[in-house]
Amino acid sequence: MADSNNGLNDQYMEMGISNKVLDFARPLLGDLRSRFEKIDETAEYNQMRVIKAMQDAHVGEACLLGTTGYGYDDIGREGLEKTYAEFFRTEDALVRPQITCGTHALALALMSNLRPGDEMMSASGQPYDTLEEVIGIRPSKGSLAEYGITYAQADLDENGHICFDNIRKCMNEKTKLVEIQRSRGYLERPTLSIKEIGEAIKFIRSLKPEVIIMVDNCYGEFTEREEPGSVGADMIVGSLIKNPGGGLAPTGGYIAGTKECVENAAFRLTSPGLGKEVGASLGILPSYYEGFFLAPVMTAAAIKGAIFAAACYEKLGFECFPRVADERHDIVQAITFHNADAEVAFAQGIQAAAPVDSFVTPYPDEMPGYDDQVVMAAGAFVSGSTVELSADGPMREPYTVYFQGGLTWPHAKFGVLKTIQYLLDRKLITI
Ligand SMILES: *Cc1c(COP(=O)(O)O)cnc(C)c1O
Repeated sequence: MADSNNGLNDQYMEMGISNKVLDFARPLLGDLRSRFEKIDETAEYNQMRVIKAMQDAHVGEACLLGTTGYGYDDIGREGLEKTYAEFFRTEDALVRPQITCGTHALALALMSNLRPGDEMMSASGQPYDTLEEVIGIRPSKGSLAEYGITYAQADLDENGHICFDNIRKCMNEKTKLVEIQRSRGYLERPTLSIKEIGEAIKFIRSLKPEVIIMVDNCYGEFTEREEPGSVGADMIVGSLIKNPGGGLAPTGGYIAGTKECVENAAFRLTSPGLGKEVGASLGILPSYYEGFFLAPVMTAAAIKGAIFAAACYEKLGFECFPRVADERHDIVQAITFHNADAEVAFAQGIQAAAPVDSFVTPYPDEMPGYDDQVVMAAGAFVSGSTVELSADGPMREPYTVYFQGGLTWPHAKFGVLKTIQYLLDRKLITI
């Protein structure tokens, strides 16, 4: 057995993966081969779309240089925003290091496009945890609620899909903006496909054509061949330390959308009157361009890791969501342990597989913006990045861990193997 694969098993052994774990995983990997081929095809398709977007935006070597001070006439920043707009099929985009994270990008999109007296609606049920304080569902300083912007929530149906009846009931004369969250976040519901988002947008427009439709696109980018811009979204919002940053962007967020929505956001981000014209890009542009260029293949690696994890943990008898056979519309894999020790062991296994901070042991703790204690594993080049191999989960029943990322497939695979080894060593599973 030892030399059947040119020493790869020995290499894994040196990394703390036993033959027992490798033997467990081998047949599962064989079954996934044709799945992985399809994922590679999607990456190929999106790679062509990204290159086309860069070519159409006329990205040249000079675009890689940054500006300082006010950042007037920053052709690199402008080329990047044009690239995003081309790729997402929107009129314009705001892509900035001054947008600090995904939550900030979403808050910015909402606060700049809503005015006192307006109402926002979530068409996809309960929004992502950190948005509760942005909206004011949980009272917070500076929330939309504090500014007199109300909120209505169209709950999902019993299968976790968008419910047209509930949307109809929530729509009223005050409704100015409807939010759709593509990825599941920390909820027990399926991630929405572009097809389902498109059908929802069509329905919402039939009720109120002028309403602004915004998609929280976090974790969804590059998982399919199209993005929400192709099915009529007015604003698409996400984080650069997730998929579109390709693991290279060290910070930032984006809003792609109609000219008016993006202008509103720019005026709020910088200042009325200044908008998109200011905002020095400093030295950050090479990582933004190159990260966006690498993102389709990186996303494919992360999806393969998620499917491999589902294959392993379903085989071990745990509930996986999505299930191994399900189609993927984001990079997140949830695994439910009903056991706090197993959740923590999984996170510690992911950490132990990291290139950076592998010697650190994660334990559950409080996190700003989250209700429960959270356990988080991320031995990342970019602090807190969740397109790098990472795992996190709230410490509450049913003890579900959310696993995502992996800049390369070999690393994602190694991470999953390491978690199995950890659970095995702690006698939390038998194989
Ligand atoms: C990650 C995420 C956010 C928030 O992004 P941060 O960068 O963590 O602030 C919002 N919505 C969804 C669905 C996410 O996955």
